[in-house]
Amino acid sequence: MYFNNNTIVFLDGNFIKADQATCSIYAQSLHYGFAAFEGIRSYTTPAGTRIFKAKEHYERLHYSCQAVGLPLAYSVEEMTDLTYRLLEKNHFTDAYIRPLVYAGEPNMGIKTPATSNLFIAAWEWGKYLGDQCLRLMVSPYERPNPKSVPIEAKISGHYPNSIIASSDAKAKGYDEALLLDMNGFVAEGPGSNFFFEKGGELYTAPAGSILKGITRSTVIDLAREAGIKVHERFFRPEELQEAEGAFLTGTAAEVIGVSSIDSHVFEKPFSDTIGAALAAQYSALVTGRSVTSVLPV
Ligand code: PMP
Repeated sequence: MYFNNNTIVFLDGNFIKADQATCSIYAQSLHYGFAAFEGIRSYTTPAGTRIFKAKEHYERLHYSCQAVGLPLAYSVEEMTDLTYRLLEKNHFTDAYIRPLVYAGEPNMGIKTPATSNLFIAAWEWGKYLGDQCLRLMVSPYERPNPKSVPIEAKISGHYPNSIIASSDAKAKGYDEALLLDMNGFVAEGPGSNFFFEKGGELYTAPAGSILKGITRSTVIDLAREAGIKVHERFFRPEELQEAEGAFLTGTAAEVIGVSSIDSHVFEKPFSDTIGAALAAQYSALVTGRSVTSVLPV
């Protein structure tokens, strides 16, 4: 699914066949999760293939590396250019793009490495959480304490938390987890940000215990442009009992509706919510179509 015999990837300065890209089993990143990555999408637009917010994603990759002390030898512009070349070589238009900065040298020490490797792969991937509205479960697993790791950095080692929470929710019959922060406030999904709707306004967790999603900020901009108030503030799961709708946002998932949180089922169909209108607007924006949908205010 991620590659076949013809797939080309970028690894350390060269475009090579995916099945020839290798990594040492002694790599520091593999043992300690010490690596930074991004998840980016490209879309077919009237102006050709366009990577959505490439600059923001590669700037975040730089921030992530710098936050933990991983060297990154490529500029935002170089990585953007390499990604367009990668898409061309694979004849991709609508693709998911995964850059990974990792410490590939054999190194069992726990000191930041002097060098790093850059891998960029792309594949064709549908919406990560599908098209159906999701039944969320407030997870017993909390987001990592931001005083122990730079939580706004997209670091591989933060993701066991996501994998454990998501798998636990699925094992209990839900579609996805909703994680709280260390103070019991709602933070985000395992790979997405969370919004809820109440009285024609939107609420989402503030920066602090979340990955500040690029989709999150895009959706906030779209809502505010349409005159919808968006509150970035702390809220507890009990407040969700008053929510009239909710949705998750992320590059891979895009904007996906939520139908219930624990036993609280939303009465209003998702199609009648602000989230559904924003999902349509987001889709129009990333594909370079004119935004025609009118938000239900
Ligand atoms: N939170 C987490 C934990 C994530 O992994 C992601 C996906 N990168 C997001 C939020 C959404 O971020 P973005 O919109 O930038 O993809």
